Amino acid sequence: MPIFEYACKECGTEFETLVLPGKEPPGACPSCNAPEVERLFSLPAVQTDETRAKSVASAQRRKKKLGEERVQEQRKYEEAHEGH
Ligand SMILES: [Zn+2]
Repeated sequence: MPIFEYACKECGTEFETLVLPGKEPPGACPSCNAPEVERLFSLPAVQTDETRAKSVASAQRRKKKLGEERVQEQRKYEEAHEGH
């Protein structure tokens, strides 16, 4: 029988529940009764790392783009405040 872990999006309570195939979502949070619950996936490490690496890579691309603009601003700032 598949028992999955869920976390409540409202209060963060983690709970395990038996989920029959095709019967997701399992229902409301047992603590606050909020219907918004999130499945906690226990994926194999390889998939998790791959997923993490992908999101890290895209985050770094964004950061790099933003970072270059910030570096230029920082240089301007430093130039303006040098030699006082
Ligand atoms: Zn809750």
